[in-house]
Amino acid sequence: LIGVGTAGLVEWPGGRIRFAPNNAFRNVELKVYLEQATGLPTVVDNDANVAALAEAHFGIEPGVRDLMLLTIGTGIGGGLVFGGQIFRGRTGLGAEVGHIIMEPDGPACGCGNRGCLEAMASGIALGRLGREAALANPEGRLACLAGGDPQRVNGEVVSRAAREGDQTARGLFAQIGFWLGVGIASLVTVLDPGLIVLAGGLASTGELLLKPTRASFEQYVFARAYRDLPQLALGRLGPDVGMIGAAVLALQEQSSSQRR
Ligand SMILES: [Zn+2]
Repeated sequence: LIGVGTAGLVEWPGGRIRFAPNNAFRNVELKVYLEQATGLPTVVDNDANVAALAEAHFGIEPGVRDLMLLTIGTGIGGGLVFGGQIFRGRTGLGAEVGHIIMEPDGPACGCGNRGCLEAMASGIALGRLGREAALANPEGRLACLAGGDPQRVNGEVVSRAAREGDQTARGLFAQIGFWLGVGIASLVTVLDPGLIVLAGGLASTGELLLKPTRASFEQYVFARAYRDLPQLALGRLGPDVGMIGAAVLALQEQSSSQRR
């Protein structure tokens, strides 16, 4: 029995990767390849979907039934768990919260659209804003940390400068956190989850990102005065969350196929 969580748009239950915005996967029959190579039954799902399942089972509120997870790294992945099960939509391509449109004329996104949440609030966005800031101030800390070359500023450089206390870098975190909070507010307005989990490399910067995200989430969510907000927290399971979730999914599918 094999469980896999992978980047990209993964058809369910066929396990074919249709497309991935930030790598070269196009129509990869991953489930078929793995079953042929190993002779073992295999489930393949999107990495953020299985991460959401893992955090629902073993995260800060174990057994929570309704959870929304965003992985904030180079891009933004999304996973939804409702009633303890992954929500995938009709063909498996649902829950892509990183590609809801925040600004139709906004910056280009790896998916081909413009102004997606991913283009406004991910590591890619942080790097783009950092390069703009470094070009405007070539003597500043951002350019310095990139070896004096503003074009070499990326999300990691901005994160490092922000942790050191650089005000420009902290301002860029405030910008991406603002958009992340606006996106989460809209998603909560639609989905009303019991818990919101942020995972991924950029989430590990903690309050640098969480504080502005919480502020705009609370400002823009529908009917703020009349609802208890779900907790917005960092994931508990760290970098292995995808592997843990893939294993949970494989076990869930095995027990449901035994019941059939
Ligand atoms: Zn996009």
